[in-house]
Amino acid sequence: MKPLYFDYNATTPVHPRVIKAMRPYLTEDFGNPGCAHMWGLRAKQAMDKGRRQLAGLINAKPGEIVFTSCATEADNLALFGTLKPGDHLVVSAVEHPAILKPAQELESRGVDVSVVPVDQNGLVSPEHVAEALKPNTRLVSVMLANNEVGTIQPVAEIAKVCSGRNVPVHTDAAQAVGKIGVDVKALGVDMLTVAGHKMYAPKGVGALYVREGVRLNPMLFGGGQEHGVRSGTENIAYIVGLGAACALAAEDLANQEAGQRELGEMFLNGLELLGREFIIHGQDAPRLPGTMSVGFRGLRAGDILSGLAANEVGASGGAACHAGEQSVSYVLAAMNAPREYALGTIRFSWGRFTEPQDVTELLHRLGRVFSELR
Ligand code: PLP
Repeated sequence: MKPLYFDYNATTPVHPRVIKAMRPYLTEDFGNPGCAHMWGLRAKQAMDKGRRQLAGLINAKPGEIVFTSCATEADNLALFGTLKPGDHLVVSAVEHPAILKPAQELESRGVDVSVVPVDQNGLVSPEHVAEALKPNTRLVSVMLANNEVGTIQPVAEIAKVCSGRNVPVHTDAAQAVGKIGVDVKALGVDMLTVAGHKMYAPKGVGALYVREGVRLNPMLFGGGQEHGVRSGTENIAYIVGLGAACALAAEDLANQEAGQRELGEMFLNGLELLGREFIIHGQDAPRLPGTMSVGFRGLRAGDILSGLAANEVGASGGAACHAGEQSVSYVLAAMNAPREYALGTIRFSWGRFTEPQDVTELLHRLGRVFSELR
């Protein structure tokens, strides 16, 4: 049985071209970019290229990129680097924990935090953001694409509302960059988070776009790398990998997006033939091309996931069982998803290496799981 990976939103495989680009920087070109000799220079050139490649993909300037160890670090840097006690922060109810947890921590340190709700499709309304703004609002953070349901937020509209009130905007684009076109100028954001391992680079590298002129306090102090905002000797091989992944994405983004939407159509058509009642969370919202969060009525996500795992299918659940209690994810709860569907929610996510026959086979195995659950 061929294992079927439908969990690209959790992480992607590293692309062979990315590995090839990285390899020299793990072997002969091992230099520290802070050194003035030949080894250092070669590392610096490679890092500069990675910076240009990422900047190119998101329409930023190379000097506006701060490399980090992951998206979580970039999110933390955006929040902790901006806010101090007495400031006000606005986030959405469906942010990743990499935003919600730092927001909670900041709240315990005296930052005022407002959480704006979402509608049934998981969408944040720019009007709700506008209503949440206060004279001391120093940051609004609304994600570009949701990891669980794939809903794409109206970040450009939100940024427009905020810029009219002189409030900086951060967006967590960890699930968006490399999957849909992301243009920091068109979005009008001040900061944007990137995750390497969601776009065929390795785990352990991410970035924060920081618009020229935006001041950010460092979280790590030391040698002053990354414009003094993120000290620590740069992870050259992984930065090269992220750069190569950006170049790859830039080459065929539209094709990939169209192909993944077609796989989604195919999956949806096949689901309808399986004879189970289901809903697609965020159905009426703009969504990522390779994400479908499906709520199967009257089933438990844990049972479906165990059945899928036994059939060598990897996917993720939108509900969980803790100490015998069934609970739905906070994202589905915020969307007010009907409980009888929410409890049976599975997130399927696919990408560059997913073939149409994988979708056919997934549907076949899903059908088998359902007949075993009956
Ligand atoms: N933000 C979003 C939207 C995510 O989906 C993820 C990972 O799932 C993260 C942040 C955190 O990424 P990492 O764990 O790589 O730091």
